[in-house]
Amino acid sequence: MTRILLTGSAGFVGSHLTERFLAEGHEVVGVDNYISGQRDNTALFLDHPRFRFIEADVSRAIPDPGGQLDWVMHFASPASPPHYQQFPIETLMVGAQGTQNGLDLARAHGAKFFLASTSEVYGDPLVHPQPESYWGHVNPNGLRSCYDEAKRYAEAITMAYHRHHGVDTRIIRIFNTYGPRMRPDDGRVITNFVHQALRGEALTVYGDGSQTRSFQYIDDLVEGIVRLMGVEEHEPVNLGNPVEFTMLELVDVLQQVLARPLPTRQEPIPHDDPRQRKPDIARAYDLLGWTPVVPLHDGLRRTIAAVPAEAASTPA
Ligand code: NAD
Ligand code: UDP
Repeated sequence: MTRILLTGSAGFVGSHLTERFLAEGHEVVGVDNYISGQRDNTALFLDHPRFRFIEADVSRAIPDPGGQLDWVMHFASPASPPHYQQFPIETLMVGAQGTQNGLDLARAHGAKFFLASTSEVYGDPLVHPQPESYWGHVNPNGLRSCYDEAKRYAEAITMAYHRHHGVDTRIIRIFNTYGPRMRPDDGRVITNFVHQALRGEALTVYGDGSQTRSFQYIDDLVEGIVRLMGVEEHEPVNLGNPVEFTMLELVDVLQQVLARPLPTRQEPIPHDDPRQRKPDIARAYDLLGWTPVVPLHDGLRRTIAAVPAEAASTPA
């Protein structure tokens, strides 16, 4: 059995990781302050004998749960653009101080450290698709910088602890991921489109809808994370689905899934919105034999099936 301290356990990705780790027989200490998470995600596991939860702001300190720790996994951070722009200082702090606190805890326990970084380190990329060797094209002080630069710093300090202190580290760069248990009001495109469609509202397409993203279903991400825990690799690894869609194509796929036409409404394109994004996943494939297996239409079906009936009928 492995004992894992997971920051951000009440978030979307954190809740799916917790589920997988518990199912595999591990023990999970979840830590979260609910800045963007959901108490329901903690409630799912509170009765589990191998789950323990600590409510804390990991930017201040990560409470040491005592006993042996095998992994410290740092997934705490607001992740959707509306959330991190509402909490820019907290987002910078959790990427900076929160990451260092996690590294110090891992070091004190002789545990391994796992960082959830992001495709946002590539900014509005000039290289397409994005391999890990690309250094990115990031506005260092724009509206998205609180997130992008925090994660770039988080990667830098993780590599420094690895090189200088010998901490056994992993870094993943997650590309747009979706699935059940995203907060209905998180403002990300799939959440917005799914909830707008289920409520019979027009889908809000920002700009002309020609910008692209590559959407990864949560189960594929979790599988990639678990596989990376099993190999020794300290360089960043992209985890994302390389099939790329414009936002208008995403509307089309959702229309096919729901088998009805969906009206759209154009809204202004957000500041510094990346034009295109698609992972080069050769490194993950070579290292882990990993590729995503859930196509967008299947993932959307599963996401929609998990939306509780009341959320579908209540305006956000
Ligand atoms: P989320 O907002 O659902 O979950 C993040 C969790 O971290 C929340 O429960 C939040 O309350 C918690 N948190 C934030 N700051 C904290 C603090 N100071 N102390 C304690 N808890 C804190 O987001 P998510 O989609 O689950 O993302 C999880 C991680 O994966 C984040 O680090 C994010 O940057 C990264 N990521 C996610 C995506 C994606 O598409 N979902 C893409 C790239 C990177
Ligand atoms: N987007 C959109 N309508 C929405 C929400 C987002 O057209 O209601 C667009 C947004 O402009 C961006 C893409 O969808 O180009 C992905 O946005 P999201 O916030 O999901 O993730 P990120 O920008 O961080 O990749």
